[in-house]
Amino acid sequence: MAERAQTVLVLGGGIGGVATANRLRQRLRREHRVVLVNREEDFSFAASYLWVMTGARRPQQVTASLRRLSRRGIEVIIGCVERIDPGSRIVTVAGRELPPVDHIVVALGADWATDRIPGLADNGHSFATLAGAERLAPELARIKSGRITVLTAAPLYKCPAAPYEAALMIDAGLRARGVRHRVQVAMRSAEPGPMPVAGANVSAAVTGLLSTRDIDYRPNTQVTGVEPGRVHFGAESEDTDLLVYMPPISAPPVIAESPLADADGWIHADPYTLATDFEQVHAIGDNTQIMLGMGKPLPRAGVFAHGQAHTVADTIVAAISGSGVAGRFDGHGGCFIETGNGRAAYGSGDFYADPAPTIAMKSASRRWHWGKVAFELNVMRRWL
Ligand SMILES: Cc1cc2nc3c(=O)[nH]c(=O)nc-3n(C[C@H](O)[C@H](O)[C@H](O)COP(=O)(O)OP(=O)(O)OC[C@H]3O[C@@H](n4cnc5c(N)ncnc54)[C@H](O)[C@@H]3O)c2cc1C
Repeated sequence: MAERAQTVLVLGGGIGGVATANRLRQRLRREHRVVLVNREEDFSFAASYLWVMTGARRPQQVTASLRRLSRRGIEVIIGCVERIDPGSRIVTVAGRELPPVDHIVVALGADWATDRIPGLADNGHSFATLAGAERLAPELARIKSGRITVLTAAPLYKCPAAPYEAALMIDAGLRARGVRHRVQVAMRSAEPGPMPVAGANVSAAVTGLLSTRDIDYRPNTQVTGVEPGRVHFGAESEDTDLLVYMPPISAPPVIAESPLADADGWIHADPYTLATDFEQVHAIGDNTQIMLGMGKPLPRAGVFAHGQAHTVADTIVAAISGSGVAGRFDGHGGCFIETGNGRAAYGSGDFYADPAPTIAMKSASRRWHWGKVAFELNVMRRWL
């Protein structure tokens, strides 16, 4: 029997959205439409921003136009998603209501909430955006003495490893330039320790790496405000010559204002199927809040957005074609932790394990660094 031609609308062209659209296009027959909507024309690979920060990559090397997806038969709309009506599956993009679709995958990521900390944006630099990493690179290359402070500006942010990688890579860069003995490196984190969801062993291993590098690390230290050259942590404050930060995040308003969101603004999708409360509407990646048995959310990380993308794509393909098996996301994932000098550690395991994730960490070696380079190449050359 002929399949009824259907349309799948993927909202967001980041890691989750692109991985979903590609998998759908590979597995659905051509009469079915795969449409992807993204605010900006360009995709950029966030895991490489730290290499932009160190000067190891130029921004163009980690950026590609989403329009390239149309060569494979994915329809691309560049525009801002302004309203999602999940009941009728009608989405408004740039003032225009799109016709109702059969399936929606919501992958709009998390917004930056830098404004939550007074003075942070004006008096600091962030590696968390491509433009920020690009601006930070010459500052790091210039500094010859003084004090660099790396901080996480809230306990909840994207990629729990990234700020720790930033501190280690900054240290390695200063050593390579022979100025480390004149530059103090401090790290202040809002959370109780490095990557707390990954467990005490991983946290201790990362704390050990910071200490070996003589990085003055203090956890449970929430920034409350920043002035030129001075960072405030409640009643205490510290001088700094260069402030480098990971911003807080918030749910995108278009999600928070939609019936998809819970009271906290995020989509509490089913942990295993990524189904929402609405039929044929799935949500994946950073715009979801998946609570783990330990009481903390699944970290916002590309590895999970990617795995969830495959889960929902397989479910949608099975529903449309009437064959194949619905996907199931099992909470497994791994993360490279760049330590500088062309080396990386690797933490991986089962984040859905109860009562707490079971994560093992492999120590830093060239192998894991090259593993991340290979993944970057795969994304930039084969995903787009
Ligand atoms: C510096 C840094 C390093 C990282 N390193 C790693 C790493 O090594 N490993 C790892 O697993 N994860 C890493 N991450 C985290 C990873 O990048 C994210 O978790 C991942 O990108 C989430 O995928 P997503 O599809 O949910 O959201 P995103 O990739 O953020 O995509 C969301 C997309 O939606 C678009 N969008 C948002 N709102 C709208 C709207 N209203 N209308 C239209 N489009 C909209 C955005 O422009 C964006 O393209 C890192 C993050 C940072 C910042």
